[in-house]
Amino acid sequence: MTGDRPGSVLENRKRAAAALGLEGDRMKVATQVHGSRIVRHLDPSVAGSYLNPEADQPEADGHMTSLPGVPLLVLVADCLPIAVKGPGGLAMLHCGWRGLAGTLIEKAVSMTGGGAAAIGPGIGPCCFEVGPDVAGSFPDVGEGVFADGRCDLPEIARRKLRSAGVEAIEMSGVCTFCDQRDFFSYRRDGGLTGRQAGIAWVD
Ligand SMILES: [Zn+2]
Repeated sequence: MTGDRPGSVLENRKRAAAALGLEGDRMKVATQVHGSRIVRHLDPSVAGSYLNPEADQPEADGHMTSLPGVPLLVLVADCLPIAVKGPGGLAMLHCGWRGLAGTLIEKAVSMTGGGAAAIGPGIGPCCFEVGPDVAGSFPDVGEGVFADGRCDLPEIARRKLRSAGVEAIEMSGVCTFCDQRDFFSYRRDGGLTGRQAGIAWVD
């Protein structure tokens, strides 16, 4: 939960890593700022800030690596966690509308070589009410993604991935706002909420 005690955050992070059989001190996280920066991780021995929440960490909305055993993690609650895999490596992205309107997808495809992508749970077209600022940020996205004051963010992501050359795209189809039982939703919960983690790694 946002504002939780550091000890509780650390314990939950340890549990999440252990549940997946991952080494927490290898996991890469960043301070997410709804930008288009992707950090490339080249050295598996550098400890990330996942198990040290007080440590300095980069400002970025994506991680990329080609190294096995370096899990990439983004935190989301309505934004989309998107993994992109290609011959050059793997990227994990935190994609809200600002990241999608920027160059996050295109950069990830360029860095990894594209090929395949997975779009995880985020706010769906059923619930994502937007103003003209959001609609105006996607002049080239095509028809049908804005209707009745709502935005189909997963479909925008799919189209951008496809335009960048990604052929195999999986979509979860789950709306975090609708599914109160299983997901946190920043909008539904009025900002004070937990986060899902989108985690991807090279075996
Ligand atoms: Zn919904």
